Amino acid sequence: MHQFILFLEHASSEVQFFVITGMLLLCWNVEQFIGLSINPSKWKHAFVNAGFIFSNFPLQILVSISFAATMQWTAHHHFGLFYHFPFMKNDWVVFMVTFIFLDLGEYVYHVFMHRVKRLWMFHIVHHSDLQLDTSTSLREHPGENFIRNCFTLLWVFVSGTVFWALLLRQLIQIISNVFAHVNYRLPESVDRLVGLVFITPNLHHVHHHYVRPYTDCNYGDVLSVWDRMFGTFRTLSSSKTVFGVDTYMDEPKKHIYWYLLKLPFGKYRKSTLYKEEAVHEPEADSASAIEFSPLQVEPVQRV
Ligand SMILES: [Zn+2]
Ligand SMILES: [Zn+2]
Repeated sequence: MHQFILFLEHASSEVQFFVITGMLLLCWNVEQFIGLSINPSKWKHAFVNAGFIFSNFPLQILVSISFAATMQWTAHHHFGLFYHFPFMKNDWVVFMVTFIFLDLGEYVYHVFMHRVKRLWMFHIVHHSDLQLDTSTSLREHPGENFIRNCFTLLWVFVSGTVFWALLLRQLIQIISNVFAHVNYRLPESVDRLVGLVFITPNLHHVHHHYVRPYTDCNYGDVLSVWDRMFGTFRTLSSSKTVFGVDTYMDEPKKHIYWYLLKLPFGKYRKSTLYKEEAVHEPEADSASAIEFSPLQVEPVQRV
């Protein structure tokens, strides 16, 4: 483990680049063969989503500097929750505790993005994609990128996360996020097993269903256990899942990159369709489906 940590610390940029590009290429190519639907404009669609790599790039430099400075400071001052845990001497324990803590942090951040109107306006750019595929994992408005990193920075600061553990967690996060957006599903039996602990494409597809309460479920980043714990876990069959977001289904400009960049600064559009969906029957083919009733799907209003 120690040798691996040293390697990570010395080749962090190269490892990150290799994992991101490798995962994108792998999932993109598998989609060509077993994708749920054929998108004739797949390249054009990917081109729009990939544009966010460039708009987020300058921010990433600032983010890297902020994270490095924060972790240097917490390490120097032994500041943060983890420094007070007596069992944080073993590298494996350090990683597991860091991983679980930061994953919970991502869950909290994601709930905020859905519950607060102004934050939702940034997050809606990701949800407005009608053709979910590998490239959707890149579709993140720079504003959301900034907010997400501020949240992570806060968790890193209060916990005293060390660099290598954060990096390793981010590599796993990249793999999980790209895989969650692929345009194919795991077989139901595999999904039931893997989905007990991890977010699968099947579960994240439900999160991209166009209408609440499905949009407001399966917030998990890598682990699905938080959704099960906090009552936001839902399943929905592939045949019933429609990607997008109700308030932007008919928006003709939602495929235009510049429109998406300006979208968060426009007027908030109230979600109107959830009441119709509240009486949907539970999925008969899903053993882990939560029994839907109007009471259980009572939507939380955005503030
Ligand atoms: Zn979301
Ligand atoms: Zn997503």
